[in-house]
Amino acid sequence: MKLQSNPEGRPGLAKAALLGLCPRCNSDGLFESRNLLHIRFANECKKCRLDYSGFNVGDGPAALLIIPIAALIITLALWLDIAVNPPFWLQVVVWVPVTTIITFISIRVIKAALLTLEYRRDAREAGGGDAP
Ligand SMILES: [Zn+2]
Repeated sequence: MKLQSNPEGRPGLAKAALLGLCPRCNSDGLFESRNLLHIRFANECKKCRLDYSGFNVGDGPAALLIIPIAALIITLALWLDIAVNPPFWLQVVVWVPVTTIITFISIRVIKAALLTLEYRRDAREAGGGDAP
């Protein structure tokens, strides 16, 4: 599956969210680090100087992720318990890190998606940021 850019040259939502691309110029660097566990936005785009500090995704990513991730982890934990019946400590050792990793990776994608949508709808905090 090829993730495409729209006719204006901006990245598509899925591509921008998955790769952490600037919603204006399509360059890499929406986040301070390429580390998947690093979820803080950079201050601005290094290429087009779009100020990311004017955007506020707030608690949106956590609110969007908590129920799907909980449902996934509970389902998998119940399946493991029924299939193998491991001791409780093993369930904790398995699911705490799995939940943490899935959450960090997912929250990065959702944060990028919400920032991209805010940019496209010009929905930013009052008094900050560049005009699109
Ligand atoms: Zn940019």
